[in-house]
Amino acid sequence: MSTEKMKDLIDGRRTFAIISHPDAGKTTLTEKLLLLGGMIRSAGTVKAKKSGKYATSDWMEIEKQRGISVTSSVMQFSYSDHHINIVDTPGHQDFSEDTYRTLTAVDSAVMVIDGTKGIEEQTLKLFKVCRMRGIPILTFINKLDREGKDPLELLEEIEDVLEIESYPVTWPIGMGKRFQGTYDRFTKKIEIYRGNEDSFHVDFDGKEASDEVLQNVTPEYVEMLKDEISLLDEAGNDFSVEKVKAGELTPVFFGSAIANFGVQSFFDAFLNLTSPPQPRNSSIGEITPEYKDFSGFIFKIQANMNPAHRDRIAFVRVCSGKFERGMNVTLARTERKMKLAQSHQFLASSRETVDEAYPGDIIGLYDAGNYQIGDTIIGEGQVFKFEPLPKFPPELFAKVRVKNAMKHKHFEKGITQLVQEGAVQLYRTPYFNDLILGAVGELQFQVFEHRMKAEYNVDIEFSRMQHSIARWVDKKQLKDGMTDSRVLHVEDRDDHSVLLFENEFVFRLFQDKYPDVKLLNIFEV
Ligand code: GDP
Repeated sequence: MSTEKMKDLIDGRRTFAIISHPDAGKTTLTEKLLLLGGMIRSAGTVKAKKSGKYATSDWMEIEKQRGISVTSSVMQFSYSDHHINIVDTPGHQDFSEDTYRTLTAVDSAVMVIDGTKGIEEQTLKLFKVCRMRGIPILTFINKLDREGKDPLELLEEIEDVLEIESYPVTWPIGMGKRFQGTYDRFTKKIEIYRGNEDSFHVDFDGKEASDEVLQNVTPEYVEMLKDEISLLDEAGNDFSVEKVKAGELTPVFFGSAIANFGVQSFFDAFLNLTSPPQPRNSSIGEITPEYKDFSGFIFKIQANMNPAHRDRIAFVRVCSGKFERGMNVTLARTERKMKLAQSHQFLASSRETVDEAYPGDIIGLYDAGNYQIGDTIIGEGQVFKFEPLPKFPPELFAKVRVKNAMKHKHFEKGITQLVQEGAVQLYRTPYFNDLILGAVGELQFQVFEHRMKAEYNVDIEFSRMQHSIARWVDKKQLKDGMTDSRVLHVEDRDDHSVLLFENEFVFRLFQDKYPDVKLLNIFEV
């Protein structure tokens, strides 16, 4: 393939996640984006997945029971010369470490905020991971068709709670029953809201309202808009594309996903303001998407999509070169050579065989048990490893033991494999060797229990612990008397020391008492 053609393919690609708190409107927005791409005939395909109608015969039992997708899924579509990969981030009870890890595979994020609620807990958690990675984050404030918080208050909340600069690109004119549209500060156009009917645009320079403007926007609201625009221009942040690309400033858009209002203009701006697939650090330095050979890393392994065959799908983010089905690659960890014969891509509602893929794309590989989370795969003959995925501190902990001591061997084997796969985190207490599982979401424990039974025929017993905060610590800094049952010293599976704190109060007390002990929040494996 010519270098130019490859460059075009790379430049047109965008790979992003939508982060939000449950019910903010992520599914509705995703549907509308898929509609833009002509991907689904009727909106509702994505929704069906949530309500359980989507369940196909080969979903894991627990998914069927609950009508949810246990792990993040991927959607691909084309829109205006771009090839889009959206990686889903599950919420609620299905929140898990996979949700965090997914964010390591994207180049940008869309943050959906419910305009009636502001920033909620899960948005904050996911935002922090995006912030750590320094990727562009664009904000869509949703549900303008409902009476919500004051837009200025929402901006303040973004700046204070998330500690990121904001720049409203669009600005709402009224809200709820009196919602009339949004003003775009870049294009200097008002998009007129007409409920379920298609919106249209009228020009407005921010000063003189033309007849056309006055026909569509109440004069009183035009006056208000003028004041607000000049306030934003004078007192607001300056716009800077560099800051957006560095994840230091979030452009903000207002709209209503359900009415499909403001979605297209938001997405057009999104495509302009975000970058194509970026280079990744590796053991031999930066690997750019243009690097001559195929490379990628595994950020998720979804087990048991077909329980009859116990197959697993390893999700790969392509980082460089061209992927071709049937190609020979090297698994960097073991330096084993393998042929990638079974590969899939994911459309709105189905899984299809993929023959080729390019940097930024997410593909699924059939896995007979060879892969681990974080693995690098590269074109044959090369050996390097992408930098490790970060570990995310669990917030839920449980001691785990096998019910029937005779099954101890199976128990050990099951735990080792499931931990390797990244289903849960495992810790041991140094002297007694108690096993402690750590998770970021309740579902991880349920899936763990289910799989131990289904795949290893082992019944396990959990006893939930009070502890809720984990921090990695340098063992050399720990002295006698620093830890007790409320500040529990454990070791992770790589023998790094971790402190488990019972609650925020105990955590703060420890920090005050031992200010020199460095407590790490997120730890590179
Ligand atoms: P998710 O949990 O973030 O995926 O949220 P959903 O997309 O499922 O939306 C949650 C609820 O909010 C649903 O009942 C939607 O119909 C509703 N919703 C989504 N977007 C809007 C909107 O723009 N306006 C209003 N009024 N409701 C919305």
